[in-house]
Amino acid sequence: MSDTAPIDFQHFFLKLLEASSWPILIIDRTLSVRFYNQRAVKLLERPEPWQGLKLDQFIPDPAILQLVQESIQTGRPRIGEHSKANNAISWKVSISPVEHTPPQETEKRAATDAHTRHYQYFVILIEDLTELRRLERVRRDFIANISHELRTPLASVRLLAETLEEAIDTDPEKAQIFVERIENEVEHLTDLVSELLELSRIESGQIPMVFEPVEAEQLVREVMARMLPQAQRYRVSMRTETQQGKTLVAADSKQITRVLVNLVHNAIKFTPSGGVIVIGTQLQPGGKTQNFFVRDTGVGIPPEDLPRIFERFYKVNRSRSKMHATGPGGGGSGLGLAIARHVVEAHGGRITAESVVGQGSTFAFTLPVASP
Ligand code: ADP
Repeated sequence: MSDTAPIDFQHFFLKLLEASSWPILIIDRTLSVRFYNQRAVKLLERPEPWQGLKLDQFIPDPAILQLVQESIQTGRPRIGEHSKANNAISWKVSISPVEHTPPQETEKRAATDAHTRHYQYFVILIEDLTELRRLERVRRDFIANISHELRTPLASVRLLAETLEEAIDTDPEKAQIFVERIENEVEHLTDLVSELLELSRIESGQIPMVFEPVEAEQLVREVMARMLPQAQRYRVSMRTETQQGKTLVAADSKQITRVLVNLVHNAIKFTPSGGVIVIGTQLQPGGKTQNFFVRDTGVGIPPEDLPRIFERFYKVNRSRSKMHATGPGGGGSGLGLAIARHVVEAHGGRITAESVVGQGSTFAFTLPVASP
């Protein structure tokens, strides 16, 4: 076919609509949907066909519908932002009138009265900003959190140094206590900064993982032995549950042990005395991945916080923890789970959390089974 072959514009138009990177609906003056693309179907999740349905059935937002009416009345484009579910969803909605009358007629009409020009169709283009807004929020929170994490120990150090200055000549014994507390605060700051560095190195792939076949139950046992004294100190009992524990997983044992230690450390922190923690492992159906889990009978995590706990610095509620320990994997900094997620993902696995407030939490992750 030569380049000069006549174009079937209707066909061309429909193809163009589908080629767009954005969800698009084209409505008429009565707000009835006339055309739309598959991206719109995916975003708006409504069974087809849509022809004849009204726009307010898709976007029941009075502010947006008002903009559409304005665009219909003035023949001018309008842009608005639509958000719902407490900003969990955020769209930029652009409304553009589209002139479709052939040029000669338009000229004729324009000559008689420019203002009576009638637009029949309006393109509603939706840009989904949800992920962008989420990332903006994460970044804002990250900066707020890091400032908070650094400010608190720094303020203590300053206060302690001032008091030390006063006590140094008059009360050497007290001065010694202040020196120790300053050391503690500085140690906490050092841990925090090294964890941040570690996280950024893992995130940027600078810490190479050394995958070797290791028995699943060996990892579980090691963590059990390491964490038992801490659990006993807080009067929490601990046990293991292993099925097909002899399965070999492809893991960097040091890093995975650290993830498990961190999960158990959290479990101890958030489980009142008398509670139970189970560290377990089992082969997943299909035999390709092995599941590891840490289950506790602790305070649990509210459903609204659950999706965010793997973010850097995210903490549910600073006052819920029963101890202020800085432990392996970073107790108290809000970085532990972020590091855990990165380590697990670097192994090709996935980490998840389930929880019922007042009943307990289960953190689980998968690792690939080592190929023979
Ligand atoms: P932190 O250093 O504060 O423990 P993490 O990243 O390890 O940071 O955990 C993030 C937050 O998730 C914790 O502050 C806590 O609010 C919540 N959390 C983690 N594990 C548990 C658990 N087992 N039970 C209840 N809440 C938990």
